[in-house]
Amino acid sequence: MTARSFGPVIVVHGGAGKAATDVVEARRAGVRAAVMNGWQTLTAGGSAVEAVEQAVKMLEDDPAFNAGRGACLNRDGEIELDASIMDGRDLAAGAIGAVKRIVNPVTLARAVMEAGGPILLVGEGAQQFAAAVGIQECAAEALVTERQRARWTALRQECAESVGTVGAVALDRAGHLAAATSTGGLPLKAPGRVGDSALIGCGTYADDQLGAAGCTGDGEAIIKLTLAKTALEFLREGEEPMEAARRAVRELTARTGAEVGIILLDRYGRIGVARNTAQMACAWIREGNIDPEIFD
Ligand code: ASP
Repeated sequence: MTARSFGPVIVVHGGAGKAATDVVEARRAGVRAAVMNGWQTLTAGGSAVEAVEQAVKMLEDDPAFNAGRGACLNRDGEIELDASIMDGRDLAAGAIGAVKRIVNPVTLARAVMEAGGPILLVGEGAQQFAAAVGIQECAAEALVTERQRARWTALRQECAESVGTVGAVALDRAGHLAAATSTGGLPLKAPGRVGDSALIGCGTYADDQLGAAGCTGDGEAIIKLTLAKTALEFLREGEEPMEAARRAVRELTARTGAEVGIILLDRYGRIGVARNTAQMACAWIREGNIDPEIFD
């Protein structure tokens, strides 16, 4: 079997957790639109990196998700964003943590990757890098939705589930893999907290020799298990992709009891999806299918 056997293929997710009933439909429509966007990029001959960036960007622009506009607020009522991207062709990676006033954090992460220096930039240094590469800041309030502001106010009284991080994994026609993740993190998180979505190997990983994976859910638990890379190591051991995803979630559940979800592709483009949460809006398209398959 060659790496091209099942390509191109793209999978996107819209966050693990329990979605409020009023956003379930919006998220289903959102992952559908994003997967089609990424798919068009792939079928037009675009790279897996371009496809995952395009898909995640669209989800960042959609206020139904906890990424870009619509992200959740931290304890101080501010939005701090994490994102990462990885190119399985050469293991190039870029990530940003705790950045403010950036509409498309995944594009900033890609710029970090393409600069070829540090892999992870955070806070003020990341803002300066954005300015240097011409990525404009928006007003802080431009990212805040009514919904998240109301949720922040409510959450300060009682705790609720987090959901709505976004991510994508893709295999392109040339047989290259990529993964990208973007999030506002956890509601009421401590200012300066950076989660798994900014950490290569934890929330995001891609290696043409192995596969590509993206995680969502309790970031601290995902970091402890380096979940994306761990799931891909199960592929190396010979697990089928679906079983690798399930085993990763099972192990994390057994070790931490936390709530998570994962999407992955092996190097042949075979799909693995698993979660231990009530929901995780998810969509994929592969060669031969015109319509995305939706799963939540
Ligand atoms: N994993 C993200 C974080 O901990 C949140 C999520 O996926 O819902 O920042």
